[in-house]
Amino acid sequence: MKPSNREVLISGASIAGPTLAWWLSRAGFTPTVVEQTPALRAGLGGHAVDLFGPAVDVAEQMGILPKVLAARTRTERVTLERPGRSPVEVDLGQLTAGISTRHVEIMRGELTSILYQATRDDVEYRFGDSIRTLDQDGDGVEVGFELGPPRRFSLVVGADGLHSGVRRLVFGEEARFRHYLGGYLGVFSLPNYLGLDGRMLAYSAPGKTAAMYPVRQTGQARALFLFRTAEELHYDHRDLDQQRRLLREAFAEQAWELPRLLSDLEHASDFYFDSISQIRMDSWSSGRATLVGDAGYCPGPAVGGGTALAVLGAYVLAGELRAAGGDPAKAFRRYETELAEVVGRFRTIGPTVMKTLIPATPLQVWLTTQVLRLVPRLPATLQRRLSSFQGRPARALQAITLRDYRPTA
Ligand SMILES: Cc1cc2nc3c(=O)[nH]c(=O)nc-3n(C[C@H](O)[C@H](O)[C@H](O)COP(=O)(O)OP(=O)(O)OC[C@H]3O[C@@H](n4cnc5c(N)ncnc54)[C@H](O)[C@@H]3O)c2cc1C
Repeated sequence: MKPSNREVLISGASIAGPTLAWWLSRAGFTPTVVEQTPALRAGLGGHAVDLFGPAVDVAEQMGILPKVLAARTRTERVTLERPGRSPVEVDLGQLTAGISTRHVEIMRGELTSILYQATRDDVEYRFGDSIRTLDQDGDGVEVGFELGPPRRFSLVVGADGLHSGVRRLVFGEEARFRHYLGGYLGVFSLPNYLGLDGRMLAYSAPGKTAAMYPVRQTGQARALFLFRTAEELHYDHRDLDQQRRLLREAFAEQAWELPRLLSDLEHASDFYFDSISQIRMDSWSSGRATLVGDAGYCPGPAVGGGTALAVLGAYVLAGELRAAGGDPAKAFRRYETELAEVVGRFRTIGPTVMKTLIPATPLQVWLTTQVLRLVPRLPATLQRRLSSFQGRPARALQAITLRDYRPTA
């Protein structure tokens, strides 16, 4: 049967997928979201992510901003420890003031949960399944699922993250599009054994940074590890023991809270390890299929502002589909044109942020801490100037103006 040109299959129910589903359902489309995890990764899951400037505006237009603000992490201060030196304490608001006047930090699982609540009455969600095959023809896409029966859709959107399955099925192997930025990250949950409240602890040494912050909704804490390696590491992506070993080797020194954190790593059930990489594609649409968020243009996990970009991408894609009456050729071309400059700007953030977030040399560690030391002592205007200088690429995000795609506009 020929699908109506309004039936859209979205793969991935994290940030980009549900945001796209929200806007599409209000524009008269019928979105279905398929998510591989058996249940929503609510509250507990993920890591702290950021919404900046225009992405906060989109959340406001969706009417979810009060919930987003209520669920924000409330991590207000960061204490940076250095080997053999006294710690430096900074107000995080002072650091982000120059990047954006509108900034919310929230756990990814909390944001996903808010987006799901806002869409579940209008959108069909299929958890615990994923797309196995995609066959496009003139008027639709025949989709084969791992578990459910095959079904035809008018359009298919991959919102399935950095390691997107839709991208692989439509464009080929990830290696063609993934660009390594020179480091790795590891993250996991652990008991908040230091009783942290509104405060992140961080440790920095040449080529590596570790941090621990509280998750007030669960009473637990998260540990985040970032380290540099010039060459990519070769490991089995399914072998978590091997990945734990790589992390332990990178942080082998007996310093700060590292030994305790790494002993908790042994018991963590949600350990995530990955390279810090970007997805760079000249075009991320083909026929009746396109990509949104990290799947199409990941700017680098933990360093690139990918959450804000996922929200903006979903907003633009839905707006262009509405404007083109569901015509993929027209809508996808305009979606890519409208977003190209924004994607380009986000791409510059990761490499710059990595310099401050994971200082490469003792001198860079020293410089970073000097800047952090200075921030609280300056008058507010100078604080903003200094932090905006530090966050120059991110500040450019504040200047992004997107078309107003609201149905009433
Ligand atoms: C450790 C870490 C720290 C980060 N810190 C920050 C930060 O501080 N600030 C920030 O802005 N961003 C941060 N990010 C990046 C941010 O999480 C992503 O940019 C953002 O979540 C992108 O949203 P997305 O919806 O495009 O993709 P994702 O959040 O990756 O979601 C993809 C979804 O698709 C699902 N999926 C995957 N494959 C399939 C399949 N085959 N079939 C069905 N479903 C599938 C996944 O289960 C997931 O639900 C961080 C990332 C990591 C890993």
